[in-house]
Amino acid sequence: MADSVAVSGRSEAQRLPPAVREAIRCHQAEAQDPIAAFFYDLEALAARARSIKSALPDGVELYYAIKANSEAPVLGTLAPIVDGFELSSGGEIGRMREATSTLPWVLSGPGKLDSEMALAMDEGIEAFHVESLGEIARLERLAKARGRHQAVLIRINPTLPEALSSRLRMAGTATPFGIDEARLGEAVAAVDAAAHLSLVGFHIHAMSHQTSVARHQALLDGYLARWPEWRALAASPARVTQLNVGGGIGVDYMAPFEPERQFDWQALCAHLDARLKAMAQAPRVRFEIGRFLSAFCGYYAIEVLDTKHSHGQGFVVCRGGTHQFRLPAAQGHDHPVIHLPSGERGEASSGEKRPWTVVGQLCTPKDVLGRDRLIGDVAPGDLLVLPLAGAYGYNISHADFLCHPRPPQIFIGADRASSDTAR
Ligand SMILES: *Cc1c(COP(=O)(O)O)cnc(C)c1O
Repeated sequence: MADSVAVSGRSEAQRLPPAVREAIRCHQAEAQDPIAAFFYDLEALAARARSIKSALPDGVELYYAIKANSEAPVLGTLAPIVDGFELSSGGEIGRMREATSTLPWVLSGPGKLDSEMALAMDEGIEAFHVESLGEIARLERLAKARGRHQAVLIRINPTLPEALSSRLRMAGTATPFGIDEARLGEAVAAVDAAAHLSLVGFHIHAMSHQTSVARHQALLDGYLARWPEWRALAASPARVTQLNVGGGIGVDYMAPFEPERQFDWQALCAHLDARLKAMAQAPRVRFEIGRFLSAFCGYYAIEVLDTKHSHGQGFVVCRGGTHQFRLPAAQGHDHPVIHLPSGERGEASSGEKRPWTVVGQLCTPKDVLGRDRLIGDVAPGDLLVLPLAGAYGYNISHADFLCHPRPPQIFIGADRASSDTAR
């Protein structure tokens, strides 16, 4: 019995890519204090991006929504593979510039500042995704002042059937995003009347965490069915050619090493291909994907500081916590952990697995990374590795809370990944 538990412990640890395991061990060996750090496998990121891109129907574009992870090595790895970047702030324009990419890029988001829109135009933005009538008026003024003719897509908040809703809805309900479909005619007329703006398409980013291929197909089908009507609202429909369908493809956080349980991207692409081929005047479709591209390359490794029991519950107290990796708390899930025992115990997690609550260093009961995590004999100095930490991990976290130092972010294969993709 003990043997089989040890074997399963060993195989779990061995699911980590060897380069990731080695980087974690090296970092731990060099560190003065117990560690908490993020590791990003750039070769895996490049491979994933290539496979997502190659599944797309001909002519369909892949943009990366950089808010998922805007670290320069991540952008640098993706730049040779994706068709462009989707940005949502002046700060993100700076991030993209640091990565010295020459890809086209677009700017979305409610509450764009005049200074951000001006910066975007000065930096050579491809298109704005306009979110309100007020923004259309402000953008026209700024474009006019620059003597510039600016391409825009109108972000639509479409009317969606209830069945298509998912956990986090950005459309089909009251939201600050986009322009209600019922008022689209007004927005199109406003852009048409703006001498320095030209309408090139429509944008819809309706949801996050989509895990159902069937529902996402139905969503895209709905957009494509309405495309001719939307387009017909424009003074020059022939110039309206782009349909940006957003991102929102979900990740099954409970299945980090089971690709067959993840969203079937190939199936969605095959469906879309057939659908587009059947259309008389198909739009140029563009995805802007964040989570589904970068989640899989990241790992958050935390070192066990203490184990204790309280009122019948076992706690593993680790370096770091939700201030560095807010994702499980933000999503309300218990994140999977991979146990890497320390020293002479090798990679084999021994002993009977028992449920532990994995917590960090914060003085708040909310600092929980996972409840009922099944872990064998665990002791201070061991490591717990949280996979699927490459998107909305560190960058959505409140890293300054309690004044803990910010965690190192380590990019594995930075040189290899960029030379591979440059070929
Ligand atoms: C966040 C966001 C995306 C990316 O969403 P994912 O769920 O990470 O794919 C795309 N477009 C817009 C407008 C967004 O706000």
